[in-house]
Amino acid sequence: MLINPAGKVLPCHAAEVIPGLEFENVRERTLEFIWQQSSSFQRFRGEEWMPEPCRSCDQRTQDFGGCRCQALLLTGDAAATDPACSLAPAHHIVEAALVEANSSAAVSQPVPAASFVQLQQRAENLWSYRTNPE
Ligand code: SF4
Repeated sequence: MLINPAGKVLPCHAAEVIPGLEFENVRERTLEFIWQQSSSFQRFRGEEWMPEPCRSCDQRTQDFGGCRCQALLLTGDAAATDPACSLAPAHHIVEAALVEANSSAAVSQPVPAASFVQLQQRAENLWSYRTNPE
């Protein structure tokens, strides 16, 4: 459980990427209510939502089918088996990314300094920090 600066209660820091989930605000509901009854915390609780192979996997009570945000971002479906799992139908996406990341072409390419400047500029638009909060 995570509470963002606006009071929104999230199951993880990235959960807002999942379309259709609505998050309660701690100013309007108790944490007990949010944890036990809110739709965002109910959506992927238990095993009913799980597809195969998770639903019949003996690891499902340990890893809960993996990361929902990762599943969404890699497959387009937040309810898919996390592609990081070797049993996932979409595991080939992760394998292909690993091959590319470990290829000699990727390793030998220096990262241009300009890309760091661009990243910094983009980040400035997304984040702001109070340097001296009162
Ligand atoms: S993510 Fe993989 S290991 Fe975890 S429950 Fe699903 S199939 Fe099993």
